Amino acid sequence: MLLFKTVADLQIHIAQQKQNGRTIGFVPTMGALHQGHLSLMKQSINENTATICSIFVNPTQFNDAEDLQKYPRTIEKDIELLTQVGVDILFLPEVNEVYPDNWQTPSFDFQGLDELMEGEHRPGHFSGVAEVVYRLLDIVQPTTLYMGQKDYQQWRIIQSMLTQLSSDIRLKRCVIEREIDGLAMSSRNVRLPEEARMIAPNINKILELARQEIITLTIQEVLLNARKRLNEIAEFTLDYFEIVDAQSLQRVENKDKSESLVACTAVYLANIRLIDNIILR
Ligand code: AMP
Repeated sequence: MLLFKTVADLQIHIAQQKQNGRTIGFVPTMGALHQGHLSLMKQSINENTATICSIFVNPTQFNDAEDLQKYPRTIEKDIELLTQVGVDILFLPEVNEVYPDNWQTPSFDFQGLDELMEGEHRPGHFSGVAEVVYRLLDIVQPTTLYMGQKDYQQWRIIQSMLTQLSSDIRLKRCVIEREIDGLAMSSRNVRLPEEARMIAPNINKILELARQEIITLTIQEVLLNARKRLNEIAEFTLDYFEIVDAQSLQRVENKDKSESLVACTAVYLANIRLIDNIILR
């Protein structure tokens, strides 16, 4: 695997690859890689002639300085995993490479996609995400971008950004990889104390129950039950549990008015913020 730290070096290499007619799959990450990330890499490797992964803990998407500071960084292990899985290029830039002094991000209108859920509870988060993904795409110019359903709202916002840019970059949404007990894999999971780790799979269980209940109950009933179940677990502090339209990401009153629904939740456990979601139908 080749490792590039500067935009200039990376771009020279990518230009050569493109001349050879190669398709480029790109997987942006913040590192502390786990099997969830690696499933995106594997999909890209299967579908492209070259796969580029970036590891960059983007300061502009953290609204909480402590969260940024405590974000796990395991670069040596990450390099080992990426090499094993067969990623061609790792882009590992410093902040000043990603955001040079004269850097300006275009402004986007996400038409409410960024208002609820993570948007409401992490002010500024999505403008930071859009900024970094815009910049990384500008650098890498991939054929296809791979992102996880784990961050459903993020995926939908980036889809909207690409539409607004009339970009011809394809965007894939990759399934959520879970631990055997159902907990969605996340870089933050390593920070969970043992007892909290045992409780964490309840998030997925409660999402699964919502998926079953939506068949027969109203949205209001499903919301009530899910929030009650989450609140009943003393170790959880519920940030939100919402059922939204899968396209508009707006709350839905009547389930028959939406073609596709997704339930999204964020929960604090042992001071660690965990998010998960499920496509209800
Ligand atoms: P992150 O490093 O958290 O920014 O994640 C990088 C990419 O990996 C994002 O597109 C995430 O949605 C995706 N991802 C994170 N966790 C998982 C998971 N458990 N399964 C599949 N994809 C994931």
